[in-house]
Amino acid sequence: MGSNLATPGCALAVGAHPDDIEFGCGATLAKWAAAGCRIRHLVCTDGAKGSWDAAEDIASLVRIRQEEQRAASRALGGDGDVVFLGWTDGELEAGLRQRWQLCSWIRVIRPDVVLGHDPWKRYRLHPDHRNAGFLLTDAIVAARDPHFFPEQEAPPHRPSALLLWEADEADHLEEVDGFVEAKLDGLLAHRSQFRSTMRIEESTSREETERFRDRVIRQLADHGRPEGFGAAEPFKLMRDL
Ligand SMILES: [Zn+2]
Repeated sequence: MGSNLATPGCALAVGAHPDDIEFGCGATLAKWAAAGCRIRHLVCTDGAKGSWDAAEDIASLVRIRQEEQRAASRALGGDGDVVFLGWTDGELEAGLRQRWQLCSWIRVIRPDVVLGHDPWKRYRLHPDHRNAGFLLTDAIVAARDPHFFPEQEAPPHRPSALLLWEADEADHLEEVDGFVEAKLDGLLAHRSQFRSTMRIEESTSREETERFRDRVIRQLADHGRPEGFGAAEPFKLMRDL
């Protein structure tokens, strides 16, 4: 198991939905931001399915989730400037149109490290997580080569590393001692997801929020223990992109 990349100058995290990035790599982004790294969030869908309430006002839910995602970016040490591709939640495709967009953002943002969903994770049910993973790996290939989308103004760009969260075969840890609270602040910025994702009922939120926090803290501690870290986030690391 490898650990701890050198702090990148710029890191781009690509999630399917608002909140995926905080779950996948929130503490790692917070650690890097504290060390001077520019962190950027890119969210592929509009998050419109993120409610168990059938009568939910969807347009308003989308707006709320965008604001929550900006707040989460700030909680991790980012500037709150989040890219939303805006594809319909639950219907994300890793097609050419989407690849064109993400390739363009990689060429404009020019990250040293890119982070995203592992598309090869077995027995994964949610199509957006799988498709966001493949969309990212496909866009990295396009972004590095001048013959892909040559009409784009920004020159090609090749990141030095890709970290995949919820990895099928994790082989890399980022030690995040001291950045667990920032991850929790980022996660808890997604207030509209308390019920559906975090199992926190608004009405009794105090006790259940504590339970959620304990669960996240315990998971990060479990990931870190084999390498002697107090807390860690696990990834599959890909280099030579
Ligand atoms: Zn998600």
